[in-house]
Amino acid sequence: MVNIQIAPDPIQKITQMGDVTLYEPAGDQPFSERPRLPTGKYQSHSLAECITNVSTPMGKKPILKTMLTTACERDCYYCPFRAGRAKTRRMTITADDLAKAFLALQQGGAVDGLFLSSGIIKGSIPTQDKLLDAADIIRRKHHYRGYIHLKIMPGIEDAQLYRAMQLADRISVNLEAPTQERLNALAPKKHLERELLAMVHMAEQIRRAHPHEKLARTVTQFVVGAVGDTDLELLSLTNNLHRHLGLTRAYFSAFHPILQTPFENLAPTDALREFRLYQSSFLLRDYGWEVEDLPFGQGGNLPTDVDPKKAWAEAHLREQPVDLQTADRAQLLRVPSIGPKGAEAILKARRQGKLAALADLCKLGIAAPERAAPYILLDGKRPAWQERLF
Ligand code: SF4
Repeated sequence: MVNIQIAPDPIQKITQMGDVTLYEPAGDQPFSERPRLPTGKYQSHSLAECITNVSTPMGKKPILKTMLTTACERDCYYCPFRAGRAKTRRMTITADDLAKAFLALQQGGAVDGLFLSSGIIKGSIPTQDKLLDAADIIRRKHHYRGYIHLKIMPGIEDAQLYRAMQLADRISVNLEAPTQERLNALAPKKHLERELLAMVHMAEQIRRAHPHEKLARTVTQFVVGAVGDTDLELLSLTNNLHRHLGLTRAYFSAFHPILQTPFENLAPTDALREFRLYQSSFLLRDYGWEVEDLPFGQGGNLPTDVDPKKAWAEAHLREQPVDLQTADRAQLLRVPSIGPKGAEAILKARRQGKLAALADLCKLGIAAPERAAPYILLDGKRPAWQERLF
């Protein structure tokens, strides 16, 4: 009997590869991208699981999130694709087939955007070339103008990085850990300064050298909590990168142990820690906070049971509330429940008249003014409010 095997079409290949980027957020609201799956579950295989609704700078979009290959020659301890892990089904798709699958899905209305990553085979440079080829086919041959988010392989050439920044809207340079010592414990073949931070530096130099060109923004990701990394280490590094090297955002991925990896018996990291890191990074990036303003405990971690902004307000504003009629923008941004939009709305509204009651804040779009109430003065007085007991 002749055993005829029909090669799967490109969309089948993507489907067979499965939800390989499950733990890699791609958009502006990483918490909403995926429900968390139980420990060890990985590589489920349906097309729906390869498509995620992602908040992009162009609005919320269904994005195809996938990899060119799930084979990898490196052996990062936490990763399901690490070399030698027998449980991982290795699949590879060519750049051409990936582009075909993406375009078929995009033209059929199933997706509008691509997040593309890859395991490393034969080194970073050839692997990055394949990622660039896929993006190039989609952009140049097929004139796709929508959202592309490309992974940057460690230690690639400057010209490859520049090309990636021309083709993509976002590039991910995943640092994984905040120090070389932590990285050694997570991913022994990666070098933080030489292979990873060098990419973030170079991306910013490229942006500065080409100020009129539309180039991708840089994001990064950390694996949180597997090897003793502290919130202070993570937030100090991301704050520096935001301020000096054009980092748009950091993703904090709470560590999940994967079966048949050296970390399979480690405890997962509390998702609340991840959430507090996001809250804190936004305070640093968007609210003008300094790292020292955050309520780190002695071990360098944030308390998980309290919102960092509320913790600061409790320590500093209970006795000295912010007068909403006279406070400057920076002072307004210290108040729980008042964000950049709320602060602007207050500054504008008070030119027209007094803000006298919490209801006036509601009208300005401040969603939960009762959370601001203990820390503010309205019309020179503490507003009437009922403290929640439970
Ligand atoms: S290089 Fe990437 S894909 Fe390969 S083992 Fe490390 S994290 Fe996994």
